[in-house]
Amino acid sequence: MRVFNFAAGPATLPLEVLEQAQAELTDWRGSGMSVMEMSHRSKAFIGVAAEAEADLRELMAIPSNYKVLFLQGGASGQFAAIPLNIAAADSTVDYVNTGNWSKKAITEAKAYCATVNVVADSGDTKYCTVPDEASWKRTPNAAYLHYTPNETIGGVEFPFIPETGDVPLVADFSSSILSRPVDVSRFGLIYGGAQKNIGPSGICVVIVRDDLIGRARATTPSIWNYKEMAATDSMSNTPPTFGWYIAGLVFKWLKQNGGLAAMGERNRLKAAKLYAAIDGSGFYSNPVPVPFRSWMNVPFTLAKPELDKTFLTEATAAGLANLEGHRSVGGMRASIYNAMPPEGVDALIAFMQEFQRRHG
Ligand SMILES: *Cc1c(COP(=O)(O)O)cnc(C)c1O
Repeated sequence: MRVFNFAAGPATLPLEVLEQAQAELTDWRGSGMSVMEMSHRSKAFIGVAAEAEADLRELMAIPSNYKVLFLQGGASGQFAAIPLNIAAADSTVDYVNTGNWSKKAITEAKAYCATVNVVADSGDTKYCTVPDEASWKRTPNAAYLHYTPNETIGGVEFPFIPETGDVPLVADFSSSILSRPVDVSRFGLIYGGAQKNIGPSGICVVIVRDDLIGRARATTPSIWNYKEMAATDSMSNTPPTFGWYIAGLVFKWLKQNGGLAAMGERNRLKAAKLYAAIDGSGFYSNPVPVPFRSWMNVPFTLAKPELDKTFLTEATAAGLANLEGHRSVGGMRASIYNAMPPEGVDALIAFMQEFQRRHG
């Protein structure tokens, strides 16, 4: 029996994708072996990898002057790889701090850049908002500006794309990539760990504009050197082949389900329903002002926090898994990525209402 899995990551995958992987597990398209068992240099696997990239390019309408890399080390690896590849050691880099993941990116960048300038920090609202762009204190010639479009823990999402002129815009899209259409041409670099909206953990997708490739410092590990990885189709060493294959199945699933426009509309409706249920309850609450609410991660608290444990136990028994909030914020968090069907959100809302009737 499948449960509705609200985990923040690794997260639920589309059932159709898991079933196809299962059907192909021991004998992929007559090859007599699993994708897991194939050489990454084989024609078969190179085909799988190339098709995944082509489908991602089509889904996100990625312009031809961008490379798509499938790297290891997760999004956290890119916290180091980005400064190493596109900023000199004596440069200034700009970061927006909107919460937990921004902070981690900032901490890592400090090891690699002379000056990490935090252009804005939403600490005054307990990281529940995005600072007004007009107030940002930018460096005119920064090597890049980094931000986190969706803060996975706080449940805070940017309602706009920053305007940075000639300064390359770098975005950690780990928890919102593919959740709706986005204009890639506004960015110098987009990256995202796979385990939220793409597939299994182990892969980080990096979409990088050509002019930012070839500037890496000599000390950059070659497996994170964008030039080297672009030249070898992300296969200078053995890539996470099975994860790459599953990511490809997810891209096909997205295409079959109407692409990012359809997914965006579905996600908007899922989130709107859940926030309306929270706001209208008089029992549950979400601390994020409406313009900054995430479509992907919905934290909420109970009016009686002493009931948290009971809520989680009963939710699990009802087939609603992994609703516990992040350890740093407590309460609950429902992650409702692309693969969470609307029925899962409906089931959560029905459970929340019933729980409130009995305990509220
Ligand atoms: C999950 C997450 C990360 C960390 O990803 P890893 O692949 O575990 O390194 C970084 N940024 C954001 C926004 C995330 O949601």
